[in-house]
Formats: sequence, C-alpha cells, structure tokens
Amino acid sequence: MYAPRLIFYPADIENCVDNYQPLQTTLAEIGLIETNPQQDIFLVGDGFLELLTFMGCAPDIHLSPQDGDNYCYIKFNQIHPQPICAGHVQSFSPNCSACKHKLTHWRETENWQQGSSLLTCPACQHSKPLQQFRWRKEAAYTRCSFYIANIHPHEALPADKLMDALHNSSGFKWAYAYANDLDTL
Ligand SMILES: [Zn+2]
Repeated sequence: MYAPRLIFYPADIENCVDNYQPLQTTLAEIGLIETNPQQDIFLVGDGFLELLTFMGCAPDIHLSPQDGDNYCYIKFNQIHPQPICAGHVQSFSPNCSACKHKLTHWRETENWQQGSSLLTCPACQHSKPLQQFRWRKEAAYTRCSFYIANIHPHEALPADKLMDALHNSSGFKWAYAYANDLDTL
C-alpha cells in the first residue's frame, strides 16, 4: 500500500509534545486544519493553500472528500516513549557516515522501525542507531508527529508561516519529511 504524505516532527529528536491539543489549536487558527476532527482525521482548513507551496505547474490536489479519493487531510500520530520511524520514501537509502557507502538494505535491519536499532555498514563495519542517520527529508525518526496525507514526495514545501507557528506553539523547532511507505502507526 502506497501512502504518500508530508510528515512534521520536532527537529531535535529529544523534543516531544505532551499532547497535540495546543498544536491543534494553533493549526486551526492559521487555517491548516478545520476545528472538528472526524474519527481522528482533520480536514484541511481555509488557509491550507497559503501554508504550502506546491511545485510543478498543475498539481492534482484534492482538498475535500467531495473532490474524490486521495484528498488531503491531517492526522496526528500516537506519541511514543522512544523514537520510531514515522515514515520514509521507499526508494531512499542513507549513506554510511564513515565511508559514504549507500546503505540500500537498511530496511532489513532488525526492528528498523525503532530509532535505536543499530545499522552496520557492510563496507566498513561502522555501526550507529538509525535515528542518527541523515535522512535528507526522506524519513523521520521521532516520538511525535503529524502528517498531511496525499502529498507526494517533494510535491509541496511548507511555508515559513507554518513552520514558525509550530515553533511558537510548542517552544521548539520542527522539521518535515516526505514518505510513501505504508502508514502503520
Ligand atoms: Zn561504511
């Protein structure tokens, strides 16, 4: 199953919200989301198109269920005690920080969903936790996150206004990453 999405998560892996209520209030105020969720899903608000910049000349963006399947909505993931993989781009592989070898088999790491799981480079035997790799916006290891569904990898960029609002609401900086793997959270 292919689940394209744009994930937002704290830039520093040590940071995490206690709950999503303050963020949800802020995101409703700036118009990213509607106020009332339906079964954990928030429909996009009236500021949505100002808070994202879509690349390409004619993106096929659906903003509500009435527009058909594959519409954009916002979902907040469960908060975990330890960093887990909130999603990744299936074709992406990180490089070994020691020898630059492309670690194409990283998903075969035992418990790869857990950020503390060790990935060992087959070329130089250098080993470190998955959460410490540079994922270049194509995977996110984090304790808390939310995502906008049906944004394809690199199809849209969040505006500064959105990233600043997340920072001001939570007290720490946020990052974003694309994913198109199965949403298993
Ligand atoms: Zn290596």
